[in-house]
Amino acid sequence: MQDFDNDYNAINELDLQAALIGGVAFPSEEASRELILKTPYGEVTVYISEIADSNVALIPRHADCGRHVPPHRINYRANIYAIHEMGIKKVISTNSVGTMKNHPVGSFFLPADFIDLTRSRPSTFFDNRTVHADLSEPYCPDIRKTMAEFLTEKNIGFSEGVYVCTEGPRFETKAEIQMMRHFGDVVGMTALPEVVLAKELNMCYASVCTVTNDACGLGNGKMTVSEVLGTLSDVKEILQELLSHVVRSLPDKSSCNCRYATSDAEL
Ligand SMILES: [Zn+2]
Repeated sequence: MQDFDNDYNAINELDLQAALIGGVAFPSEEASRELILKTPYGEVTVYISEIADSNVALIPRHADCGRHVPPHRINYRANIYAIHEMGIKKVISTNSVGTMKNHPVGSFFLPADFIDLTRSRPSTFFDNRTVHADLSEPYCPDIRKTMAEFLTEKNIGFSEGVYVCTEGPRFETKAEIQMMRHFGDVVGMTALPEVVLAKELNMCYASVCTVTNDACGLGNGKMTVSEVLGTLSDVKEILQELLSHVVRSLPDKSSCNCRYATSDAEL
């Protein structure tokens, strides 16, 4: 039988400042502790690590008991619920994206908004009552600003814009990319519904994406996973520096409106 670590008094003592949900380029800081949390949506493995003198919770998005979980099968609800139950108010995520607008491969992208083209994922906590979360500013402006300032100061290439999330796990077709580039900048498979679920629980959520490849039909030939992994390994160090900086810079009191995302929405 599985032992669970749902002792929230003990977890509160860790004074967790943020949660990092990592994609394939997950930071490899030494975890001081591993927790297995039980949620109404399933179990979540959380690693506690010290980053920039603060305790943070790390959740590898694709990991489940040593298995690599594909984007459409990630248990987004369990991950966000576990973060909420640990009392954490700020979530920073890393994602990999393909560019539809000639962003240099290896540069960073900070989503300001999204378009959700997923279709099979449980995407709300509110199945039994009507709650309309406000998504007019899905990505926390405060955390985004901190990220942008860091990248500007370090002279590291980045851009901001609209993330289009597809269902996957296949890559997109050329025709799909030609359509999507009219309304989006980059394409990926893991942003949704994660950001929405964080908003439903009134958390600050921001993402830093690594541009790993040109979207289908815009680069030189066939798309490969090794191309994606190669780019991620090149940028890993900068990504870790950026995450440390963001954790160090998190304000005690937020000036953003993330915490009110569902405050006026209940009917
Ligand atoms: Zn916020």
